Amino acid sequence: MSNTSVRFLAHCQICGNEQKVRNGRMVSHGYQRPWEGSGNMGDCGGVGHVPYEVSCDRLKELVVEEQSHQAALNESIAQLKSGAVTEIRVYWTEGFGRNKRQQSKLAQKVNCVEHEWDAHVRGEVIRFERLIKNSKSAVLFFNDRISSWKPGTVKETTEAVISAEKRKVQSDRSAAKKAERTAKKAEASEKQKTAAEKRKVAEAEQEVARQGFIQQIKELAAKKAAGGNVSAAALELARKMGLKKNFNWLIINQLGVNDELLALGLAKVSKNHMNLGKDYLCYVAPLQGGQWLA
Ligand SMILES: [Zn+2]
Repeated sequence: MSNTSVRFLAHCQICGNEQKVRNGRMVSHGYQRPWEGSGNMGDCGGVGHVPYEVSCDRLKELVVEEQSHQAALNESIAQLKSGAVTEIRVYWTEGFGRNKRQQSKLAQKVNCVEHEWDAHVRGEVIRFERLIKNSKSAVLFFNDRISSWKPGTVKETTEAVISAEKRKVQSDRSAAKKAERTAKKAEASEKQKTAAEKRKVAEAEQEVARQGFIQQIKELAAKKAAGGNVSAAALELARKMGLKKNFNWLIINQLGVNDELLALGLAKVSKNHMNLGKDYLCYVAPLQGGQWLA
């Protein structure tokens, strides 16, 4: 006895792929953004809507949505450029392969070194501009599909119905796979927790070390101001701090002891450092003829 069931196939309005249709609507399908050529993006915007063979109304809706999205992004860029924005969520990736994690923090204008804040603003503007570019590509793609739209026919196919036995084997297998996935996830989250705790301890230790260095820099500067020879001690301190050429400008600018560092000859003012448009302190080793300590 051969059991068969009728299936319907048609093209999705949004991604243009041929997918299953149930009750006249596109069923859930992952998709790639044809206008960006990027990877799988999760559920497509055409899911739950009638297929392209029936209508292009979903495309028209999305054109309007994308246009208002672009307007909002342009407004955000204007606010960033006017200086009205005081907080930016900053994203970066840490780790490799399976341990790769997206990290983020809220950067606040008042807590940022000025050039660092400027860089965050520039990064955010670039991010929004990229989103606008993608949105414009999407609108071009949608408009193209709207203008070439004509009614079509939903394809009807028959396929064998899977036996109850076969279905049970399949469902057992997928349950086992799911359990495996859940266990892996739990393991990963435990690892992540441990890593976060370790990071916290390391950060606390770093802060103690940092405060110690600030204290020592202040003491050496005071000694020098009183006429003492502190050159060797200053270089030794720089070595302990692990200061290196072209590497520590951010660290030393955040210590809050710029005058002392300059007085000790451990830093110099660098004009327009790293093209940031401003002058910043750079580390320089005093006992090596003004050459950078490698
Ligand atoms: Zn689709």
